Amino acid sequence: MASKLTFKGGIHPLRGIHHGKPLSEKRPIEACSVPEEVVLPLSQHIGAPSVPVVKAGDRVDLGQMIADAGGYVSVPCFSSVSGTVKAIEPRPHISGRPMLSVVIQNDFEDRLYPGIKSAGSLESLSPKQIVDIIKSAGIVGMGGAAFPTHVKLSPPPEKKIDTVIVNGAECEPYLTADHRLLLEHPDEIVHGLEAVMKALGVGEACIAVEENKPDAIAAVSKAAQGKNIRVLTLRVKYPQGAEKQLIYAVTKRQVPSGGLPMDVGAVVVNAGTAYQIDQAVSKGLPLYQRVVTVTGCVNNPSNLMVRLGTPLSHVIAYAGGFSGRIEKLIAGGPMMGITQYNLDAPVMKGTSGILALDAKTARSAQASACIRCGKCIAVCPMGLQPYLLSDYAENERFEDAEKAHALDCIECGSCAYVCPANRHLVQEIRLAKSQIMQKRKK
Ligand code: SF4
Ligand code: SF4
Repeated sequence: MASKLTFKGGIHPLRGIHHGKPLSEKRPIEACSVPEEVVLPLSQHIGAPSVPVVKAGDRVDLGQMIADAGGYVSVPCFSSVSGTVKAIEPRPHISGRPMLSVVIQNDFEDRLYPGIKSAGSLESLSPKQIVDIIKSAGIVGMGGAAFPTHVKLSPPPEKKIDTVIVNGAECEPYLTADHRLLLEHPDEIVHGLEAVMKALGVGEACIAVEENKPDAIAAVSKAAQGKNIRVLTLRVKYPQGAEKQLIYAVTKRQVPSGGLPMDVGAVVVNAGTAYQIDQAVSKGLPLYQRVVTVTGCVNNPSNLMVRLGTPLSHVIAYAGGFSGRIEKLIAGGPMMGITQYNLDAPVMKGTSGILALDAKTARSAQASACIRCGKCIAVCPMGLQPYLLSDYAENERFEDAEKAHALDCIECGSCAYVCPANRHLVQEIRLAKSQIMQKRKK
């Protein structure tokens, strides 16, 4: 019987050609080759950009800090190779806009920065020390959001946290990076979760995985045995891994409009983030590499451990190159990922996948007029009226869009996926959101 743990609305893109996961789900994580030059953007996270602490000509080690946090909601950035700083200059970025980046020429010596060492056992660390380690390691949400993790783990005193969830849903079609991490590194993920529990003073927690990953569920269940950690099986539905939908599925608590998970006593960390937290606590390693699913129309769909700053072109070449004529290249998954136009853009902290789609799978049909079928309303997991929001955006009625809760849109793409008129609903709603935010800033 299907798991009862789920949320209202949502879709099933994991069927038919958009499933995609079998392409790479059985491929163990493999180290990608390291490029001659890495390009590390100062903006790889939500919040203030990092501030360079090196200059052109400096020799750097693997794991050495090259840019410090630019504020509280910010994180430091580390060299992913040993070598020499070539330049600090604008370079192509996954967002599509050039971004100031530290460019490092690799000397292929992989000299580890001497300051890197284990912080000791969890028992010997205080909650504050754990949060400081996570902050100093430059850890952000690895599911794609790239929100600084130390901020999540520092709720104000009036927000009492009683629920910690490791997000192992990985509901995006094609992506299998978290699946492989759960399967291959369950002990590390459980240890990372224990660090989060201690940092927040929470005695119990859970790891939530969609039921289409039985091998991963078995692996983390074994690793969690004898600890106050439950492994929960979620129904397969998109966007099951979105924070608010996951919290509802697990606790039946609804994060209020404009609110945060901490408003309902919950903190969610992605499985990849829990893994990085383990690496920082037990080995002292900062975030300088991550698992990326390289899939779709490539010759060897894979899950690769990629050094941050590696150009997309290098990773695609390592996966055997494109297997045909590519219509669309996406950083991330097909639902929430960002279309790429420049293969020089580098892998960053939030890059969970590189997906190449051909004309058959890219779904680039012509948009036509809305037929008021209501399908978009039925699937919206946030209870919004997507056709109306898009209508407001098209007619520049941004105040009306604000009143209709446009800012609650999590940009999951479910509405656009089911729209028979192929309306560009997410792009329109994104436009409305940015206009509303700009007005609020003024
Ligand atoms: S309106 Fe936003 S939250 Fe609702 S389905 Fe569309 S993209 Fe998802
Ligand atoms: S699904 Fe598309 S056609 Fe149907 S109401 Fe929504 S926007 Fe209009």
